[in-house]
Amino acid sequence: MSGICSNGAVSSFDHRLGEARYEVYVPQDVLPALDAAEAAALARLDLVAGSEEPLVAFSDATAEYDFIVTVAGDLAAVLGGVWQEVSRAADQRAARFRAAVHQRRELYGAIRAVEPAGPVQARLRTDLLRRFEHGGAHLDAAGRDRLAAINARLAELAADFMANLQAADAASGIATHDAAGLPEALVDSARAAAAARGLDGCYVPYSDANATIVLRQAENRQLREAMYRLSVARAAPSNGPVVAEILALRHELAQLLGYPDFVRLRSAGRMLTDPQAFLEELARAYRPQADREHAELLAFARAYTGEQTLELTAADVDNQLDGFYATKLRESLSLARAGAVCVPVATARRVMLDALGELYTVTFTPADAPGWHPDVEAFDLRDASGRHLARIWCDWYVRDGKRPGGWMSGPWLATDGGPHLVSVVTNIPRAGADMGDLRIMWHEFGHAMHFAFTRTRYRLRSPDDGPLDFIEGPSRIMENWPLEPQILRRMGVEERAAAAARAEDRFRTASRKMARMVRPALDLALHRGEDPLPVKQRHLPVPVDPADATAAQFHHIFAGHYGAGHYAYQWASVMDADLFTRFTAEGILNPATGRDYAQKVLSAGAERDPADLIRGFLGRDLNLHAVLARDGVR
Ligand SMILES: [Zn+2]
Repeated sequence: MSGICSNGAVSSFDHRLGEARYEVYVPQDVLPALDAAEAAALARLDLVAGSEEPLVAFSDATAEYDFIVTVAGDLAAVLGGVWQEVSRAADQRAARFRAAVHQRRELYGAIRAVEPAGPVQARLRTDLLRRFEHGGAHLDAAGRDRLAAINARLAELAADFMANLQAADAASGIATHDAAGLPEALVDSARAAAAARGLDGCYVPYSDANATIVLRQAENRQLREAMYRLSVARAAPSNGPVVAEILALRHELAQLLGYPDFVRLRSAGRMLTDPQAFLEELARAYRPQADREHAELLAFARAYTGEQTLELTAADVDNQLDGFYATKLRESLSLARAGAVCVPVATARRVMLDALGELYTVTFTPADAPGWHPDVEAFDLRDASGRHLARIWCDWYVRDGKRPGGWMSGPWLATDGGPHLVSVVTNIPRAGADMGDLRIMWHEFGHAMHFAFTRTRYRLRSPDDGPLDFIEGPSRIMENWPLEPQILRRMGVEERAAAAARAEDRFRTASRKMARMVRPALDLALHRGEDPLPVKQRHLPVPVDPADATAAQFHHIFAGHYGAGHYAYQWASVMDADLFTRFTAEGILNPATGRDYAQKVLSAGAERDPADLIRGFLGRDLNLHAVLARDGVR
């Protein structure tokens, strides 16, 4: 790469394209390297219109630029510190740069003039034209100006939304004298927080984690009710007007770009053209079972409290996992007492890579490629013929300064037959991986394998370039493997703990599903201008709390990328369950099935319509039967 800094020194980004040197990158090199990469990209973009293959030329023009931005973001997430400021600056620059590219009318014209030779080029051309049109390339000058003003204001509003929410969280908490049931560590910190405020007893500051603990474990019902009301009413006064303005501007944006509303703007090019109809079908299927589970829970709660007239409230059931009574019910079934799964990371990783090797007929060998931290280990992935498919850096352990959660990143998609570059990050305690950690490991490796198997000559056809409502299918499906007895045995998990983990996964599935559908349903309702509370009410078996202002906390859609797209998680569960039916029927490590899946579904990246890929693998269209059967819905 051209990485000479403005002061003449050689930049740490100055290396061959298609490599990554995580051990040498330094944050101060990012912006100068971007300057050089931007100049090179602009020169290449100038040649696209006269190129013999404009789709290839356009796809390749920003390869180096995109690599630097991605690496800076990846290192900010795993190292924190000064990388975060540098990455934020790089992201802001990249957003301006990409917006300017997608407004260039001669590039738009050059892509439009391409006569596609086959379905892959036709799909790429359509997707690229949509990017240009959503960037305003087809609008007149007044339209482009208005679009730019809307996008600038939406960026400000997203930042305001998050700042208001964080301010509300920081100012919120519940004082109590009855901390019965809460874990010792929380009680200790709540006593200290009370003392710091000159209060007796305990003060539980608001955080999502603290709220979850209180709602699940606090014996005192008033405390749970107060915490619930706090959590659904947070930021309502400050974010109410922000939400209203975001929704109005998104609607105007959609209409400016020729769509009736924001949901249909965002649905363009996705698998589902009518996500609302999908969610309604799912809710109809799960509701009867959820009602039966609710009746059981109510009977249990009355027996548990000895109050025969007890009624459950939203604080007890508006929860994606378990509220207080569901936690007690689960404990009464001794699911929680069988001993938790705890697997050393080295074992979990060895079993996973061996299993993936068996399933896909590939090998993982340790690579001589240092990472960004001594914990990081790299592997070279090769197919049966010895072809080097990908180099994968893995950063498993939780660490100070590292962003929580798990993710996969693909900073480099090779289009010349060379290896793709991939990183997988999790946050597993050194003591070992529990069931949730194992699922995250396999999930992120699902993304990594999708990326690694992609074969394309167009850099803009990585899995990430595909529809938002497909991308989580090939990762979600991998979460099935660590629950399988065969895999748990290989990891040395005792049969009792394995059985408990599987039973836990099948506990109150319909109720959990209905609770998980609240957010995607609200997302669509809000973007269609509907009142959110009746929509929430349709998913809860008890009256919605009058203080409920869930939209004011819904940062995934108002300060993140999931606006009109939150349903994708529910759709992914349908894909994952249905795709997995072939593995359960033919063997979860059957190499013929694995190769067929890799070839028919994964290797296309974003080149083809995912519905066609899935039809090619299953021999039929997707349907809900598998997810309903897995969730025990009759
Ligand atoms: Zn994912």
